[in-house]
Amino acid sequence: MNWPVDKKVLALCGGVGGAKLALGLTRVLSPHQLTIVVNTGDDFEHFGLPICPDLDTVTYTLAGVSNRELGWGRENDSWNCLDTLEQLGAETWFRLGDRDLAIHLARRAMTDGGDSLSDATSKICRKLGVDHPVSPMTDEAVRTRVYTDTGELSFQHYFVREQCQPVVRGFHFAGADEALPAPAFSRALEDAATAAIIICPSNPFVSIDPLLALAGIRARLKACAAPVLAVSPVIGISAIKGPTTKMMTELGMDLSSVGVFRHYGDLLDGFVIDTTDRSLVPEFPDPGRIHCCNTLMNSLEERVELAKECLNFALQWSPPKAYT
Ligand code: GDP
Repeated sequence: MNWPVDKKVLALCGGVGGAKLALGLTRVLSPHQLTIVVNTGDDFEHFGLPICPDLDTVTYTLAGVSNRELGWGRENDSWNCLDTLEQLGAETWFRLGDRDLAIHLARRAMTDGGDSLSDATSKICRKLGVDHPVSPMTDEAVRTRVYTDTGELSFQHYFVREQCQPVVRGFHFAGADEALPAPAFSRALEDAATAAIIICPSNPFVSIDPLLALAGIRARLKACAAPVLAVSPVIGISAIKGPTTKMMTELGMDLSSVGVFRHYGDLLDGFVIDTTDRSLVPEFPDPGRIHCCNTLMNSLEERVELAKECLNFALQWSPPKAYT
């Protein structure tokens, strides 16, 4: 791979799918070359603590302490607090392990002491040995609301308590209109050295759209000289995990990577789909902007390979794309 040492990458991601590619990118780019910006639309307060599911999934993944079996939380966690809450008859639908809980307690103390969410995230990352910069999308409160057949739900009530069962009709990102991007996000967008913006294979509706809904972000991404690339979270007609394809069906969308591409619309300069979907290439409006490779990341090697594929693809826009 010939990625120039003076060029930087901005990665936008949600939780599990995004974190896989983010991990691959950290293996080929230095901390100086990469900024990882993470969705906080899933965040909520629970027992008075700030819970940031996607930020923590990314942090734990990069630190090598994520619980890969569960897909959330930390490995080798214990459940003494949760068991005690159960005994006390308290709410236990949102499961928090003891080690996980310690992060939320520490974050509460940091933000009570005046730290922004960006500051707290940097401190937690440093303590867990994560060298690459991880930033929330914003330091302000943005909350994903899910419109369903049975009424409007907060994201965690839809996702965890109701297990994504209600039929989805749409989404709203409360507070996004007025929320400014976090300082690291803004800096990366303004940095002339940023040579690729990669939307990781995350849920387009509830992991990436909240981030795109922040004040002015779509326009700033379009104005950026760096190409905006996305990796499809859909391979064939399936998502690897989570409700992405269920949501696509309920929203009446084409259940394929073509549907995901159309959803992002003219924001994208390039799109990465799986080799097994090569036959779909003629269905894209501009087949020249589609790159096919293996996008299934079961191993660390596959994460690193996909990261390299994305970076090599981005080099096609060197010199930078024309301003739109
Ligand atoms: P969540 O917030 O934990 O649901 O995580 P994300 O939104 O970041 O990721 C969920 C999406 O990641 C789903 O749509 C999955 O299809 C996608 N995903 C997970 N693993 C992979 C993978 O190995 N390859 C690709 N292409 N997509 C993946």
